[in-house]
Amino acid sequence: MHEFKYINNNLYCEKIKVKDLADKFGTPLYIYSYHTLVDHFYKLQSAFSGVDAVVCYSVKANSNLALLKALVDKGAGLDIVSGGELFRALKAGCPPEKIVYASVGKTNAEIEEAIKRGILFFNVESLPELENINRIAKKLNKITRAAIRINPDVEAKTHKFITTGKITNKFGIDLDNAYKILLLRKNFSHLKICGLHIHIGSQITQSAPFVAAVKKITDFIAHLKRIGITLEYLNIGGGLGIIYKNETPQTAQIYAKKILPFLRKSGLKIILEPGRFIVGNAGILVTKVLYLKDTPKKKFVIIDAGMNDLIRPALYDAYHMILPLQKRGVRLEKVDVVGPICESGDFLAKERKLPLVKEGEYLAVMSAGAYGFSMSSNYNSRRRLAELLVVKDQVFVIRKRESFDDLVRNEEVPSFLLGL
Ligand SMILES: *Cc1c(COP(=O)(O)O)cnc(C)c1O
Repeated sequence: MHEFKYINNNLYCEKIKVKDLADKFGTPLYIYSYHTLVDHFYKLQSAFSGVDAVVCYSVKANSNLALLKALVDKGAGLDIVSGGELFRALKAGCPPEKIVYASVGKTNAEIEEAIKRGILFFNVESLPELENINRIAKKLNKITRAAIRINPDVEAKTHKFITTGKITNKFGIDLDNAYKILLLRKNFSHLKICGLHIHIGSQITQSAPFVAAVKKITDFIAHLKRIGITLEYLNIGGGLGIIYKNETPQTAQIYAKKILPFLRKSGLKIILEPGRFIVGNAGILVTKVLYLKDTPKKKFVIIDAGMNDLIRPALYDAYHMILPLQKRGVRLEKVDVVGPICESGDFLAKERKLPLVKEGEYLAVMSAGAYGFSMSSNYNSRRRLAELLVVKDQVFVIRKRESFDDLVRNEEVPSFLLGL
């Protein structure tokens, strides 16, 4: 469910006509629906209300401060993957005891800052990392906590670039080695291993991979318990798929129903780390058609948004629905929707049947809330886009469009080149 709908053939975000926003703020432009965002958070939270669970929104999906603040205000914790995200999480007012921190490559400075701030725990991805965190905690004279990220070696049935729970992926620790580490847990003088973590991939639409992973890890937890190793947390990660095209992803209710029996049996506190599920369908990218170009083999719709603004099609062959802001006739034609960037990978849709479009008209690239702006770049010296938040009939600029000065803000020409 989301709040982008046609009313009298005009696309609306909540109670605002999207075309009015495009006219006023220019394109390309990201627009988010506040109520869609919050509604998705509530759906997941209420599906897991039967257990002691905290939904820690995955900041990397969309890290805009306003969106973080909106979720934190509703009770969300945050899942971070860098020092920069820790900075954002704290700036958004997230209580440190609701922050969990994953990443295979945490630096000493990042670890130190997270320990000082008192985050809930690190999701640790290797033995050297555990040792390093312990060493840093000792230096700071603090006791910190960690969950071991388990690589459960399950097939997530999603794009290979967003599969993270196979043993050939760089993430997590296999069960055998995790077991060995847990047996030696007392060797870590300043680190308490308080839980286990899994995150098997992203845009997973079926329940089976989640069930397989959760079953594996809860069996492991039961075994640990039998030999006297008790834990406090089970972090089941994110990865819930959403509708981009015609997928039939599990709802929050169904997801919960399938895995809750295992979670209850574990008796542990549960952490969830959804990103895409919460923000994916809460955002669109609005773009303008610059030119229509006919070639002997193809028709190209050239738009003002490029792969630097939304890289998912180029990176993962991802599908995003494209809709005209003003719905017209039903005649369709097959086109490639491409951006202005000097790369053949710069497309948002290929061989797509769209209603006949005109130069100068606006299009909405749907489901662009997750891994859209947060993966955008300044490639081709393009300014990163403005982001708007719509709340019913109100609109807020939650990020200004970058200026040309922003592009060169941190650059310096050495004096010898200036002839000084
Ligand atoms: C990216 C990530 C998530 C969120 O994934 P989604 O597919 O957006 O739900 C959760 N946990 C970890 C550790 C991640 O790296």
